[in-house]
Amino acid sequence: MEIKVDQEEKRSWTEVDLRQIIENLEIYKHNLKKQDVQIMAVIKADAYGHGDARVAHELAKHGVNLFAVSNIDEAVGLRNSGVKGEILILGYSSPTYAKTLSYLDLTQAIVSEEYAEELAKSNYKVKCHMAIDTGMNRVGIPSSEPDVAANMIKRFSHNLNITGIFTHLCVADIKLEEDKAFTRKQLSKFKAISDRIKDLHLPYIHCYNSAGGLSYLEDNDFNKEIGNIVRLGIILYGLKPDTSYILPEGIKPAMSWKSVISMVKIVPAGEFIGYGRTFITKHESRIATVTTGYADGFRRQLSNKGFVMINGKKAPVIGSVCMDQILIDVTNIPEAKMGLKVLLIGESNGLVYTANDMANDLGTIGYEVICDITKRVQRFYIE
Ligand SMILES: *Cc1c(COP(=O)(O)O)cnc(C)c1O
Repeated sequence: MEIKVDQEEKRSWTEVDLRQIIENLEIYKHNLKKQDVQIMAVIKADAYGHGDARVAHELAKHGVNLFAVSNIDEAVGLRNSGVKGEILILGYSSPTYAKTLSYLDLTQAIVSEEYAEELAKSNYKVKCHMAIDTGMNRVGIPSSEPDVAANMIKRFSHNLNITGIFTHLCVADIKLEEDKAFTRKQLSKFKAISDRIKDLHLPYIHCYNSAGGLSYLEDNDFNKEIGNIVRLGIILYGLKPDTSYILPEGIKPAMSWKSVISMVKIVPAGEFIGYGRTFITKHESRIATVTTGYADGFRRQLSNKGFVMINGKKAPVIGSVCMDQILIDVTNIPEAKMGLKVLLIGESNGLVYTANDMANDLGTIGYEVICDITKRVQRFYIE
C-alpha cells in the first residue's frame, strides 16, 4: 500500500516564487549599464536550493538559453529533464567522462593545462570553455603571461572544441577602493588574453558574476572586448552577494521557508528547556515546539539566538536546536497553537527576515544558508 502525505499537512517546506525569479532577472537586466547582454543563469547546487530543472525551464520560457552548473551530475540531470541550450560545467569532471560530455552536448570548463591535455586525448572533441585565472587562484590557466596563455588556447583548439573563455572575479561585490582596483586588474588581465585570440572568434567570452555585471559591465571600448555575458547567480534568487551590497529596487528573495507548531505548553518558571539545559525559564512561559531542526538545515548555531515569525511577531528560539525540532517562546503570541504555520525565512505581516539576515546572525553568507536547506525539506512552487 502506498501512503501519501497530504501536501496541506506539511512539516518543513520552502515555497519558491518562480515569478519573482523572472522579475529579478528582468530588473537585473534593466539595471545593467550596457544593453544587449546575454544572461548565463547559474543554477549550480540545485539552483542554490531553488530546484534546478524547474528554474531552468522557467528561465528558458523567458529567453535564457545559457546555463552553468558545478558538476557533471547536475548537467546530466538537467539534460535528462529536457533542458536545451548551452550547459557549462564550471568545475572538474573526470576526463573519463569525455564521451558523456560530447553525447549530451555539454560544455566543460578547462581548469588547467594538465586537464586540457588529458581531455584532448579523447576522440570526442569535447566542447570547452577555458578558465583563466586572473587572481583568485582557484582554477584556470595562468594569466601572468598573456602570450603564453593565448598560444596555449590556440594549441588546444585543435583537439578540443573551444567555444569560450572565462574568468571569475573574487571581490566584485566589495566597494573598497583597493578591491575595485583589484577587480580592474583582473579584467585587464583577461582582456589581454581575449585580445590575443580574436582570430578564434569564440562566441562566449565571459567574466562577470552577479555583482560584477552590475558594477563593472559598462558600455565602453574596454568592456566590449571582454564579453557581454553575465553569469547570474545569487541576485537571480533575490539575495545579496555581500551584506554591504545594495540590490536594485524590486529585487527580492524568491524563497520562503515555513514550518508548523506541533504542540504548545505552559512551563513554570525555573524549568530547563531542551538538550544541554542551555535555557531556563525566568517566568511562567508558553513554549511551542516547531517541526524543523538542524537536519533540515536550521543551523544549530541559532540555539538561544534565532527566532521564527508568527503573524509579524518574533518568537525566539530557546534552548538548543534539535535534529528535527526547535523550541520557541510564544508567551506573547496567544494565537500560537498546534498546526499553526510559522515562518523561518520570508516576510510575515511586514516583518522581513531573509536568508541574508539569517546569514548575518550566523556569521556567514546568504549563499550558505540557502544551500544548507536539506533535501528533507519539501519544495513547492508558486507560478
Ligand atoms: C557560482 C559562480 C558564479 C555565480 O556567482 P554569483 O555571485 O552567485 O552571481 C559565477 N561564476 C562562477 C565561476 C561561479 O562559480
